Order: sequence, then C-alpha cells, then structure tokens
Amino acid sequence: MRKRTSRETIYRSRSLTSLMLLTLSSAVDEIIAVGRRFDARGMAAATTGNYSVRLENGRIAITVSGCHKGRLVSNDVTQMSLDGLPLEAQTPSAEAALHAGVYRLYERVGAVLHVHSVASTTITRLLPEGTDIVLEGYETLKVLPGVFTHDTRVVIPVFDNSQDMPALARKVQARFATLQPEPPALLLRGHGLYAWGATVEEAERVVEALELMMSCELETLRIGRRM
Ligand SMILES: [Zn+2]
Repeated sequence: MRKRTSRETIYRSRSLTSLMLLTLSSAVDEIIAVGRRFDARGMAAATTGNYSVRLENGRIAITVSGCHKGRLVSNDVTQMSLDGLPLEAQTPSAEAALHAGVYRLYERVGAVLHVHSVASTTITRLLPEGTDIVLEGYETLKVLPGVFTHDTRVVIPVFDNSQDMPALARKVQARFATLQPEPPALLLRGHGLYAWGATVEEAERVVEALELMMSCELETLRIGRRM
C-alpha cells in the first residue's frame, strides 16, 4: 500500500480478450452462472454484489436490487440505458450508476462485476485516506489484461464509500478520466471491489486475481514484515 502519486499507474494495459456483445438471453445466462460461482467461493453473501453486461443493442443488462446473487433467476436481471436509467419495470441495482459510468468511460468493457469480498472490504478499511492499493511483484499480476510480467506495478484506485451512487460515479469518472492506462478495477472503502473486462469471464478472472493478491497483502500485514 502506498500514498497515491500521479506516476504510479505504470503498467501497460491491453486487453487480450475481444469485446463480444451479447444478446439479453445470453447475458442473463452468464450473469446467473457467475453469481453461482461467486456464491460458491463466498463472494456473494446475503444480497451483496451486482453484475452487469453490455448488450448488442447498446443497453446494459444488470441484476435487480435486493436479490441473492447465488440464487438468481432470469427475472432478477433487468435492462438500463448507458446513462444508468431503468428501461424495464424492475429497479436496477442501487449501484447501477457506477456500472454505467465504467461502460461510458471504457468502450472495451463488456462486463462489470462487483463483490463485497472479504479481502477487498478488509484491506480498504486499513488504508489511510487518499491511499490506493499498489500491487507489485506478484506472478498473479499476469492474470490482469495487458500485464505480461510480475515485474511491474498495478494501482487499484480506492474511493470513500457513499450512499449517493450518482455522486460517487461522478467522482470515479473525474478521476479515471486522468488515469492512463485504464485501471482494471476500483475499490470502495469498507464496501468491496468493482472489476471489469471485455467479457464476464475476463472480469471474473480480475476479481479472483485481485482478491488473491489482496489476501496476500493482508497476510503480509498480519505477519508484520516483508521477506
Ligand atoms: Zn455493493
């Protein structure tokens, strides 16, 4: 963990996976399946988390508010516009604005996955204000899109949590507009992780890789020293 500087995002970002826009039906299937996988790994407790997919019709499929992500059915996925506005009777996730903001920022993003995972929630509660997560030297960094060596540094921006998601989305957009190359994820303090990719599969890999590396960071802190 390091104090934020403007020079820290130094890895080169290039997606290895092409953006493949899905039909609503395929997106629903993928969202239901990833919810079950996250639940099996303890990353979908209670009604936490939300998932979205960019559709071929330009809309966003997103989980509805308040459902258990390990037990999703097709009715638990609704559609919203790229501006985060509901397009069906069901209410999208309360965090829809953040999802929509990521899609507007990055055209290559086809899926956004958000989990209240243990390492993400815990490590951000330990960080001093204005501090991002900096991951260096991990072989697992190579799982991230466009990272080809452990010998690099990846910054995961951390934002203070808020119940005003549109305002938080504006903060994220303002900061991310200045970050090159694009980060693979963001963290909300005491809340969880947002990760994205060209596909659900790629975004899921980013979630898993970051959760593993943040667990290692926490373990290093617990031991109290680096080798
Ligand atoms: Zn959340």
